[in-house]
Amino acid sequence: MVSSTAWLISIRWWAGLGVLALTWLATMVLAINLPALPLYGIGLAILAYNAVFEVMRRRLLAEGLPHAWAFGQMTRLQIALDYVAMAALIHFSGGLESPATIYFIFHIIIAGTLLSPRATYLYTTLAVGLVGTTAALEYFGLWPHVRVPELANSGLYQKPLYALGNLFFFATALYVTAYLVATLNVRLRKRAAEVIELSERLRRAYSRLQTLYENAQAANSTLELAKVLDRFVQSTARAMGVRACSICLLDETGTRLNLGAAFGLSERYMSKGDLILEANPLAREVMAGRTIITADARTASDLQYPADAVAEGICSMLSAPMRGKEKPFGLLRAYSTERNHFSQEDAEFLAAIATQGSIAIENAMAFQALSQLNEGKSKFVLTVTHELRSPVGVIRSLLRTMLSGYTGPLADQQRDMVERALHRTDALQNLIDDLLDLAAGKSELGIPEERVKVRLDQAVEYVVKQFQIPAQEKQIRLEWHCEPANRSLLISATHEGIERVLGNLVSNAVKYTRPEGCVQLRLRRTDSEIYLQVSDTGIGIPEEAVPHICEEFYRAPNAKAIEKEGTGLGLAIVKNLVEHWGGRITVESKLGQGTTFTLIFPTVRD
Ligand code: ADP
Repeated sequence: MVSSTAWLISIRWWAGLGVLALTWLATMVLAINLPALPLYGIGLAILAYNAVFEVMRRRLLAEGLPHAWAFGQMTRLQIALDYVAMAALIHFSGGLESPATIYFIFHIIIAGTLLSPRATYLYTTLAVGLVGTTAALEYFGLWPHVRVPELANSGLYQKPLYALGNLFFFATALYVTAYLVATLNVRLRKRAAEVIELSERLRRAYSRLQTLYENAQAANSTLELAKVLDRFVQSTARAMGVRACSICLLDETGTRLNLGAAFGLSERYMSKGDLILEANPLAREVMAGRTIITADARTASDLQYPADAVAEGICSMLSAPMRGKEKPFGLLRAYSTERNHFSQEDAEFLAAIATQGSIAIENAMAFQALSQLNEGKSKFVLTVTHELRSPVGVIRSLLRTMLSGYTGPLADQQRDMVERALHRTDALQNLIDDLLDLAAGKSELGIPEERVKVRLDQAVEYVVKQFQIPAQEKQIRLEWHCEPANRSLLISATHEGIERVLGNLVSNAVKYTRPEGCVQLRLRRTDSEIYLQVSDTGIGIPEEAVPHICEEFYRAPNAKAIEKEGTGLGLAIVKNLVEHWGGRITVESKLGQGTTFTLIFPTVRD
């Protein structure tokens, strides 16, 4: 209506100017004997009331209120005034004999375009009435007929047949026009409504697509099952625009579904109990792969806990299966506080969300199972190694006693065999120590530890001292560089742990460096971090082995070639401990030239 009013006003300027121009042309140029004054008057009047409407329109717009009604009224008033102006124009240009009568068609088209069919017919009748009344008044001499001999045979208006015939064709032309315009307009409006509806659906589809994408992102952003489930129910509730959402997961027996995560539900409702498939026809249907709308929880007969749902204020539900690679493994449910809230379209959307989320949830479930297995394995290794430690220790000391001759002299062959046995038990002892160290670094195994502030320079000095003799034996220079400013830097760790870490790195550096080589340790810092470098001029690490060196039991081929013994656990221990203390480890290496390990710790203030 707002834009129609502006349009109507803009055309009317031309109509007013047209009346003025045509009057001037007819009277001044063509010298037609027309009453110029009233006709100019009509032209000016059209321009004048148009100006008033323009001012009104601007005011209404400036007020910024919801003014559809005001604009509607204004349009009707404009059309009514136009009709009066048109009737006057017809009268002053020769009444029924005037060629201007045909112009009423434009007005009908305008009314038909802007108003309802009913209003269009009403205005058509008004037009016919106005022209008819003018003709009748002139016919009966009540309104003096304006004679325009140059345009029409004068006196025609008094011929009843002419007058009636003219009126008849005028009226039918107008009604047919009104009918055509109104019908076309109704169809156009229907189409426009369809387009609006379609674009609204398109907008909804787009926003749902967006939500699906966000859901996928939320669910895939972690592998922790509890977090994945929590994020998933939250984003699903938001996506569906409902109060609550939950996920129930099938247990190992495959007979009941227990609550995995919920959003927007009360503690009481969440603790109502598991969904037992045998007692819950709806859950059975969903686990068979169907998405089910429960339009009214109060009257639904297939729910297991209808009373709890009603008490929770839940009026309708939508349940979709979470499908795994092989079969459904859970149930995703949206809850609404309105009855009949969910449409078929909602059902399809929830099913799509469930399908998409299933992948992330299955991954998280697999990850959780793997983590549990891994934890179990580590615990098992820890127990076994613990049990092995003392018998191996006893065997070593017995073998040593035999070698020292306390148990009597040994023949050469016996001595050789005992020495070999001792050598192998030493290797076994190393493996046991490493496995226990590794377990100590794994926090999830629950090994108690008290972290303290450790002076890194003192720990390095202690370890360097320990390895001076083995290094000298191999003719390797072992150097420790620390600027005075970097002394007494603190990290949060355990004394035993940091010595284990440094011991592993320095012993590796000495082990994998050829005689005449050099091993150096350096300490430096930034505002937030402390860097400890252990570099050597040793055999280096092949490029393809670098990503694996911190994996448990991994040993690079060049290391195995020069040093038969080794567990491949040292760096795994180092990495575990350092990361456990909030630090990290990096390695740079060039095959045949040397390796630098850097430990990076967060600074700790004294
Ligand atoms: P181990 O020393 O018992 O083999 P580690 O876990 O300490 O086990 O080290 C894993 C592997 O990393 C080593 O086998 C070796 O291939 C490589 N590595 C570690 N430190 C060095 C080093 N300083 N120079 C060259 N290779 C190294």
